[in-house]
Amino acid sequence: MAIKTAWALKDNKLININQLDRDTERGSKCGCLCISCNSQLVARMGDHKAYHFAHGSDYNCSLESIQHQLAKAIIATCISESITTSSNNPINTNLNHSVVLKTVDLEKALADGELIADCFVNREHESFAIEIFYTNKKSSAHIERYHDLGISALEIDVSEMGLQLNRDELKRFVLDDAPRKWLRKTLLEQEIEYSTADGLDWITADDTVCALKELHENDRLYDFVGAIGTCGQSSFRRRERINVQSVEGVIELNEHYVLARGFVNRSVSVAIMFPLGDYEPQSLTSPTLVVDLDIWGSHHRANWHGIEKWKKKLQYQADLEAEKKEQRRLKRLTAKDNELKIEHICKMYKQSSSLTDFYRALAEQTGLELSDLPFMSSEKIMTNWNCPRAVWRAIVLLVFVRQGKELECDMIGYDMFMNDAFGCDYRYAENRSKEVYFWLDKHFETLGAKKKRLVYQFHKSKLPKNFDAMMVDLITS
Ligand SMILES: [Zn+2]
Repeated sequence: MAIKTAWALKDNKLININQLDRDTERGSKCGCLCISCNSQLVARMGDHKAYHFAHGSDYNCSLESIQHQLAKAIIATCISESITTSSNNPINTNLNHSVVLKTVDLEKALADGELIADCFVNREHESFAIEIFYTNKKSSAHIERYHDLGISALEIDVSEMGLQLNRDELKRFVLDDAPRKWLRKTLLEQEIEYSTADGLDWITADDTVCALKELHENDRLYDFVGAIGTCGQSSFRRRERINVQSVEGVIELNEHYVLARGFVNRSVSVAIMFPLGDYEPQSLTSPTLVVDLDIWGSHHRANWHGIEKWKKKLQYQADLEAEKKEQRRLKRLTAKDNELKIEHICKMYKQSSSLTDFYRALAEQTGLELSDLPFMSSEKIMTNWNCPRAVWRAIVLLVFVRQGKELECDMIGYDMFMNDAFGCDYRYAENRSKEVYFWLDKHFETLGAKKKRLVYQFHKSKLPKNFDAMMVDLITS
């Protein structure tokens, strides 16, 4: 049967027959060569059938070899497009892994020419070969050779490729839709022998895939990393759960381990390793979840390796938090030191030569606007009995109200500093605490205090907005 193809080489470039000019390049004037056998082609551009190239009467070519060459040629033109690298995903059928093609070599000789890869995709970390499959699968010797060389090879089955496809259809077929699998995955069907302390056990890659699937379904592919930041007397603990959110399936298998690919937090690609036998993974530099499979039970263990960067970041964050915490602690301590106590106010009062001086010092210390107080504007010194009252009212308002504290009426009468400052023992002077009580009782509501029996509880945040002006009124009224 004659081979009809829409594709040929013209001036060494891959062209579709629809790119030809029907008037000038029809028939043998097309100047096109077969992509496979290199013989002159005839461009059939009639009215009744789809345009196609045909070979001359005497040729030695096949559909398969054209499919093969065409697939290679298409891959070579798809630089910076992505190719699907697994379509038969045993773990997650919805998730296919894809790779961007940066540079591709055709017919690349590997191992001194022992092995010729149809295509070779050069990648910074993981270069791989692409084998175009159209008649026979690669022999097991061939696969083993790739395995020995440590090169992954992707086999794409193009036997269903139509030669009449346009360029976009052809690209999609070769890059994504044609069946494909990793050649090294064919090893998965083989059993691997490994010894354990108890003797000889057998495990197949299928076992591993089943276990992986089970672990993923049960949400057990995770571990925690943590860091403790320290700064001064403060510490901060940071802990993060890193869990595998999707699993792509097995990408490598040898006598030491089974390696699968997974994703953490959606986009971070990680490796999942199942060590076999006594194999101890060492110096893993990229994030790898090492799963110790309990083949006969369900006590699997997951440990992360190669997450130093991750840990460093966590440590940095924990240190930063500890530093912030320490700063907050120091600030709190300083604030406590700056708290006005009855003692401070009494000292201030004693050291002042007049009430004007006292309130000026108080205003400086607290930032309160006290300039409206009558003592501030006149030089008149208040009478003795009047002075202490103005002072205790200031103390009540400043120490307790302003700082949001709890106040019992007796506290004023029983305070030794007050007694000392005013030169009188108020503990036995009922009048003093009564005065405090009645004064507060009259005003506690406007001050925003909560009263419970004889105790007034002030909330700093609930102080009235015009507190300063109210205070001036309350001290002098
Ligand atoms: Zn040909």
